[in-house]
Amino acid sequence: MLQINDLHASVEGREILKGLSLTIKPGEVHAIMGPNGAGKSTLGNVLAGRDGYEITAGSVQFRDQDLLSMEPEERAAAGVFLAFQYPVEIAGVNNTYFLRTALNAQRKTRGEPELDSMQFLKLVREKLAILSLKDELLHRGVNEGFSGGEKKRNEIFQLALLEPSLAILDETDSGLDIDALRAVADGVNALRSPDRSFVLITHYQRLLDYIKPDFVHVLADGRIIESGGPELALQLEEQGYAWIKDRLAPGA
Ligand code: ADP
Ligand code: MG
Ligand code: MG
Repeated sequence: MLQINDLHASVEGREILKGLSLTIKPGEVHAIMGPNGAGKSTLGNVLAGRDGYEITAGSVQFRDQDLLSMEPEERAAAGVFLAFQYPVEIAGVNNTYFLRTALNAQRKTRGEPELDSMQFLKLVREKLAILSLKDELLHRGVNEGFSGGEKKRNEIFQLALLEPSLAILDETDSGLDIDALRAVADGVNALRSPDRSFVLITHYQRLLDYIKPDFVHVLADGRIIESGGPELALQLEEQGYAWIKDRLAPGA
């Protein structure tokens, strides 16, 4: 699904990712944890193709494509989804309209016919059922006055509609309330499938009480410095990150 090899990326001339490698197979859920400022969000942004990041070395292969040579819209249309850490509010723009526009933009890029409102509503009902959601968020403005939990539910709903092959979810460092946490976890669990992979960027082990990842990685100082199973997250929760950093950079 995704193969990142020795990736180096800079922001404003400063190197943030310093040789990051990671391989993700179809259907796998990978959690990426790590201290503040380690480069976790930078990784998500680089994969999504956001502006402002300079790739100075390395490669990223997504399925059989060279991801780094693709435009952000092409990446999205090819099946890469990045959930926003801080979702934007778009007052006055109906959420249903927004979601249909987003889906149709991707379909257009793929050369597929756009969905009319009847077809879209049918899809919406299907996805609401899968996620056990009500349609109340759809009639409001995009994220307008949404609570933290509602924003997350909406984000997951967007994910369900767009049906990405690779979903990257970056959570806020301040942590989610229990409502939002459950929304993310229930959504991810409902949408797990053998041909869809997830990257969960998370600061806290808590989320992983609800979503059992296949792999847990520690990103520190721009690289993956440790990988393991779910037990690694528990160990980090107990011991923090110091033990790993000390071991890799003795005396630093
Ligand atoms: P994390 O998500 O692991 O907390 P980030 O990827 O957000 O870390 O940030 C890594 C480092 O890159 C930080 O030192 C941050 O200040 C810097 N950085 C990230 N994005 C930008 C940006 N757009 N402009 C300047 N510095 C940035
Ligand atoms: Mg941060
Ligand atoms: Mg971050």
